[in-house]
Amino acid sequence: MAVALTAGLLAGCSPVPTPSPTAAAAPTVLPSPVPSIPPSPQPTLTPSLTPTAELTWPTVFEPAGCQPPPEDYTRVELGSWVINRRTQAMLEHAARLYGGEIDLAGAAVTQGSYHDNGAASFGTHLGGGAVDLSVIRLPEWVVLWDEIGPALRALRAAGFAAWLRDYGELSPDSPIHIHAVAVGDAELSAAAEAQLTGEAGYFRGYDGLPAQFGAPRPDRFGGPVVCAWMRAKGYEDLRPPEARALPTALPDLTPGQTLTYTVEPGDTLPAVAARFGTQAEAVARRNGLTRVDTLAVGKVLEIVVGE
Ligand SMILES: [Zn+2]
Repeated sequence: MAVALTAGLLAGCSPVPTPSPTAAAAPTVLPSPVPSIPPSPQPTLTPSLTPTAELTWPTVFEPAGCQPPPEDYTRVELGSWVINRRTQAMLEHAARLYGGEIDLAGAAVTQGSYHDNGAASFGTHLGGGAVDLSVIRLPEWVVLWDEIGPALRALRAAGFAAWLRDYGELSPDSPIHIHAVAVGDAELSAAAEAQLTGEAGYFRGYDGLPAQFGAPRPDRFGGPVVCAWMRAKGYEDLRPPEARALPTALPDLTPGQTLTYTVEPGDTLPAVAARFGTQAEAVARRNGLTRVDTLAVGKVLEIVVGE
């Protein structure tokens, strides 16, 4: 049972775009396939494509959905919990990016910040920026497995190191929930900061659990989402270079197949392109993108597999 549920969750965490049958059946753009993408973009492949000769190609790509939070540490109440306004603004932004059933900025919060719950949270909630979120629909007590991946992606793009803590993962009777730490919160506890940049930290590609759980365990939900505002605060992707490689192409794709992909929080253009075995330049050209350093959440891209 638990294995099946976990497998379902992992599948949910890897966004698998559904090819649009209509888009595949009726492509509106018919460029001649090119075997490889020349390093200098050609301005015109077909008359309908936007010239990209003036496109400046960045070395850093801003993940979709990034937005710097206000540095406001006024404490506010959320239900029976206390958080700061910065964390509140980040939760509200995550809720907008996510748009699903879990009430990220409201009823889902099951532990706030500035709170001592003893050993259960290893001190991570003692300072600002830490929240726990329920992934259970009440009153039926149904785990919203399909919602967890989208909620985590939105929380990460909004600036949280966020992980699912499964049943019994922290202690024999610990409940399933999302634990989230606001990156760059000036009032983080030392234990929460360690979950960001410490040995088992989010920015190192791990799940944040302290040393008592053994060697650092890989983050099951993809690597860190690193926004420009985080870099300005000194945070970087601290994973080894091999762990930062672009994703490999999804299986069962047919070269030349045209499909559409809706941009999700945390996506970057090179990572989206790699998932379809194509190049960021090709996707930019096909979709007439004038800005390639950032993508808007919800933008629909037309992609030709292997282009
Ligand atoms: Zn927690």
